[in-house]
Amino acid sequence: MTRQYELVERVLSYQPTADEALLNRAYVYAMKAHGNQKRASGAPFFSHPLEVAAILAEMRLDDATIATALLHDTIEDTDTTRGEIDALFGREIGTLVDGLTKIKKLDLVTKKAEQAENFRKLLLAISSDIRVLLVKLADRLHNMRTLGAMKPAKRKIIAEETMDIYAPLAGRMGMQWLREELEGHAFKALNPEAFATVVERLAILRERNQGLIDEIASALTAKLKETKVAGFVSGREKKPYAIWSKMERKQISLEQLSDIYAFRIVVPEVEDCYRALSVVHTTWHAVPGRFKDYISNPKQNDYQSIHTTIIGPRHQRVELQIRTERMHSVADYGVAAHTLYKDSNGALGPEGVVGSQDSNAYRWLRHLVGMLLDGDNPEEFLEHTKLELFQDQVFCFTPKGRLIALPRGANPIDFAYAVHTGIGNTCVGAKINGRPMPLVTELRNGDEVEIICSKAQLPPSAWQSLAVTGKARSAIRRATRDAVRAQYGKLGREILVRAFQRREKTFSEESLAAALGRLSQKTAEDVMAAVGRGELGSADVVRAVFPEEKPQEPPKRRRKVQRNDEGWFGLRKVMGLKFRWPGSGERTCEHGPSGIPIRGLRGDLPVSFAAGGAVPGDRIVGILTPGQGITIYPIHAEALKAFDEEPERWIDVTWDIDEDNPQRFPAKISLTVLNEPGSLAQVATVIGEANGNIDNIKMTNSVPDYTEMLIDLEVWDLKHLNDIIAGLRAKDVVSRAARAGA
Ligand code: MN
Repeated sequence: MTRQYELVERVLSYQPTADEALLNRAYVYAMKAHGNQKRASGAPFFSHPLEVAAILAEMRLDDATIATALLHDTIEDTDTTRGEIDALFGREIGTLVDGLTKIKKLDLVTKKAEQAENFRKLLLAISSDIRVLLVKLADRLHNMRTLGAMKPAKRKIIAEETMDIYAPLAGRMGMQWLREELEGHAFKALNPEAFATVVERLAILRERNQGLIDEIASALTAKLKETKVAGFVSGREKKPYAIWSKMERKQISLEQLSDIYAFRIVVPEVEDCYRALSVVHTTWHAVPGRFKDYISNPKQNDYQSIHTTIIGPRHQRVELQIRTERMHSVADYGVAAHTLYKDSNGALGPEGVVGSQDSNAYRWLRHLVGMLLDGDNPEEFLEHTKLELFQDQVFCFTPKGRLIALPRGANPIDFAYAVHTGIGNTCVGAKINGRPMPLVTELRNGDEVEIICSKAQLPPSAWQSLAVTGKARSAIRRATRDAVRAQYGKLGREILVRAFQRREKTFSEESLAAALGRLSQKTAEDVMAAVGRGELGSADVVRAVFPEEKPQEPPKRRRKVQRNDEGWFGLRKVMGLKFRWPGSGERTCEHGPSGIPIRGLRGDLPVSFAAGGAVPGDRIVGILTPGQGITIYPIHAEALKAFDEEPERWIDVTWDIDEDNPQRFPAKISLTVLNEPGSLAQVATVIGEANGNIDNIKMTNSVPDYTEMLIDLEVWDLKHLNDIIAGLRAKDVVSRAARAGA
């Protein structure tokens, strides 16, 4: 805890005219007033105003501000009255403390009208004297630093309010370091996992890149020295929240994020900025579109700097800020930098930004108050003010009055995910201000949004392009991915059950456990999903589970051709085929397996189907491949063209179906299916209900919106196949279905 004399000495060090007696009086008064009060952490309450005063002393604020900080909670939390403060410390400090008391309960989670009133009070208080805002921000900063002592629910509310109101306000006032620290604490409280991930990752990168950062900094330094530009180069790591929000905004992973480091060249004079810039740009390549001159065009909050990105030493992208020391101080302290030098007029130098009353940020505040005094509708004022303060945000409410801040352009889908991922995932509709509205409706400030949920709902993947916020988009992507994966898992399971059955085994997930290593998969689910997606063959899984068993079966396509008791290929029985050789008259296998002419003429020839399969109803032809056997093609197969010049290989065959012993035949279909949860299940259902067997599925092309796939089926005949294709075409999720491979 900061001690009394330390605080006083600190203030005297930058403000020699400070009223030492005033500071001591305020210190003793506040300590006595708070007495034995304790903070949530168990620390004496007085430690809080004291630390707030210390923060403001770091910002080098005047004695009245420091005294106000010490006294800021006395009227609200103790028996002290405004009259006592006025009497003991004068009207100036009395007004400041009173202003802080009025905005003490700036509780944004309350009703809209109250919130508007609070915001109005805050602005009135801070605009009458900017120091009220500075104390308020320091107060919030200390509360955020000690947030861990609060109960989780309260912690979350305070952190949200900080993220929504105080951090942007600090930024708007040009106090960059304060904004960053507030965001950091709030980020950690609101999303501890993400915070930990980013911090951990940064530590790794820091270790790995330390040499590189030094190298870049010294290369820049050397170049400046060589060209006689006086400048100090420093490397700076970006803050976890800035990194996180960039990842969310650009939808990229931490690994893809290239610019975690920024470099800064601080020079004495404005001209030096441009000299340094020319040195940098003539030495290294500038990245197009990244140059910004905020010196000739300062930002609204008075920020000035030159920004550029170069392909620097070792071909690294290097983000650079070039600025003077004065600009540096304004960038960090903003309004406070002006206030600080209020009494020493002009001490900051004449670079366009002068005393506090003329600063852009302060002018903005004045303008707001002007409007406030003109209007008499606080809600309208709030609307207007927030538009000004958060130009790129909209503020909406849940039916219970919780404030949800969203980027401009956001819709109820974003709102639902901002409330809770579970709400977003089950969202089916929305009411805006009590009226049912489309989910794509752009939200406006002050809208009350009620999300209608259905447990059965999964977010359609198309929402990814409708959502505006990164949070919603990544949650939708995750939900879609999980759902699609679950479907593939289910499908893979069915394929495996059948594959195991064919080998007279019973499939169970446990049986996969021992084979995971051999299959290079982590879990049984992974195996089933891979089989479902067609990345892993069911036969490979069977082999991995039963490695000791020899693959006694012939390759799958030839499975239909089996030796009968007499050692012949019982083609008629097994395949239902009738063969006729060209020029040899009709020779069928009607006279039993022993009479199959294939064997007599050509030896022990296996028969198989071409890749696309063939089903009864197709006109078919056989192609003889020496040393391999006969392949059956449908007569319209494109592949037959390859044999046009070799008529001797063509074999006329016709179907000869044994009605009493129906067989299934292989066929291939190609589909284009929308990538929606449930789509694959619909495909599998159509095929299953039509009594078709799925043998294999292969994804041939997958883009975010749809997947093209080839499915190997087993069907009874052409009519059966056509019925299945027609059934698939009738589904909305199937944009195309056709026979393939023929
Ligand atoms: Mn306080």
